[in-house]
Amino acid sequence: MLIRNIRIFTLAPEQVKKTNLRITGSEITAEGPSLMPMKAEKVVDLEGKLVLPGFVNAHTHLYSSLSRGMPTPSKAPSNFTEILEKIWWKLDVSLDAETIYYSALVGAIDALKCGTTTLVDHHASPSSIIGSLDIIKKALKQVGIRGVLCYEVTDRGGKKKRDEGLEENERFIEGNKTDEYFRGYVGAHAAFTLSDESLHLCGEMAAKHKTGVHIHVSEDVCDVNDAREKYACAVFDRLAPHKILKKESILAHCVHLTLSELKTSRDKECWLVHNPRSNMNNRVGYAKVHLFGSKFALGTDGFPSDMLEEAKFAFHKQRDSGMYENINHANLITGGQKMISQIFRKKFGTLNKGAVADLVVMNYPEPTPLEKNNLLGHYLFGMQSSMVESVMVGGKWVMKNHKIRGINEDEIFAKSRQLARKLWKKMEKIS
Ligand SMILES: [Zn+2]
Repeated sequence: MLIRNIRIFTLAPEQVKKTNLRITGSEITAEGPSLMPMKAEKVVDLEGKLVLPGFVNAHTHLYSSLSRGMPTPSKAPSNFTEILEKIWWKLDVSLDAETIYYSALVGAIDALKCGTTTLVDHHASPSSIIGSLDIIKKALKQVGIRGVLCYEVTDRGGKKKRDEGLEENERFIEGNKTDEYFRGYVGAHAAFTLSDESLHLCGEMAAKHKTGVHIHVSEDVCDVNDAREKYACAVFDRLAPHKILKKESILAHCVHLTLSELKTSRDKECWLVHNPRSNMNNRVGYAKVHLFGSKFALGTDGFPSDMLEEAKFAFHKQRDSGMYENINHANLITGGQKMISQIFRKKFGTLNKGAVADLVVMNYPEPTPLEKNNLLGHYLFGMQSSMVESVMVGGKWVMKNHKIRGINEDEIFAKSRQLARKLWKKMEKIS
């Protein structure tokens, strides 16, 4: 396929230019302004529209998709632990196969509409663990989106459920080692709900499968206090002996990491994921994002996978705080793309020859000059997800003119509304 008459917009390297792209199979095989159609080649003329690499949500929880508009607890949670206990741990334990499936479906539709082509998800459904990652995969495949999936191992439900969580991760990792669209990871909740033995088992499994651990780290000060009070050490001191701090691992939030822990994370080349909307909403504090290093990515932690919006929150939080002037804002978009390049061992986030053809077509008629040196200004102050018109994943159009192919959104949303109400009722009954 030859996509003609476009302007590509990339942040790594920073460029905006008129060109054409040739897509063969799942890859971009040529790029250049003088490319001419080959015999029998399909030609798509995009009339000067902008084309960007697909966005990546580097840390999210699709299982929370049916929580939008959910009634708040009668007594408002007063801290982070209560937010987990009164909201999220009631929700995750109430999920069954059907609600896992519809949560993933609804979350994936939201993501694709915003131009997000890959979700790095962290799943929990303690009443329905075995097979849960396959259910999510089925939903994402139906929508046409890529996924890096894991199950959240924790000790909060006892040994049997912890072991089921480990088993689910291993089964999914093994089954998706060469899948074109999916990879498995070892999911772990957070140090404060994991014993040393459980952390060890997660680290060992990741080492065995040459993958990483995807874990919440120092999201709230409760994680820091737990390590200090029960183990007389810092959170990183609990993770390090179990081979969790390594270049494949994904550490979400990292709000309360110390300067020395941040240095360790940079030395070990761990991925650190900033989740500004969630951090503000839970009032857990402001991460030292300027010290996250080059392996810094952006996640939504269960908020809709609108990466342009999340990037704007990250930017305005930083501006309002008056802190951390030297953040590389391009990383807010390119970090996740670099992360999945490492995970899939392919090139994402560029539109050069050899890159995976995950791309977004945006209708952005810019009112001011759009040039190489002001791209950030346009994406932080002008571009919106509603301008995403079409999306290609792995060389296939999965959304064309705002319509996702092969699914009936009205039917899916009618069903998900019904299921959400049932789920909320079920949660109310948990004391
Ligand atoms: Zn999270």
